[in-house]
Amino acid sequence: MTECLFCRIAAGEIPATIVHRTERTVAFRDVNPQAPTHVLVIPTDHYENAAALAAAGDGLAGELLAAAHEIAEREGVAEDGYRLVFNTGPQAGQTVFHVHGHVIGGRDLGWPPG
Ligand code: 5GP
Ligand code: ZN
Repeated sequence: MTECLFCRIAAGEIPATIVHRTERTVAFRDVNPQAPTHVLVIPTDHYENAAALAAAGDGLAGELLAAAHEIAEREGVAEDGYRLVFNTGPQAGQTVFHVHGHVIGGRDLGWPPG
């Protein structure tokens, strides 16, 4: 059995509030939300980070971006604006090494981030 938390969420082995699913992506609410909308969007297949996903080069990275925007639309944050963040590597604060985009919105977001 895989040790990867997000592989296990994608497989339904660990519960999560799923908000969107396509053939190759799944999205669920962050367990520790930083804004009224905070959804994580992942490929169901395991890639360690955004660089690995980009290197796969089979259109999956684009599908993930499209899913993120679809989620923002459904959550009602697309018009006012939202942030899509891929923390990549330890210095950026990546803690789960299965690539995930954070879809964050529903409040004013400061820039630059801390
Ligand atoms: P990172 O810091 O790697 O960019 O983001 C990991 C995110 O995963 C964090 O925002 C954290 O709150 C979230 N997270 C960690 N464990 C779980 C979990 O078991 N379920 C859900 N839904 N989110 C999680
Ligand atoms: Zn994984």
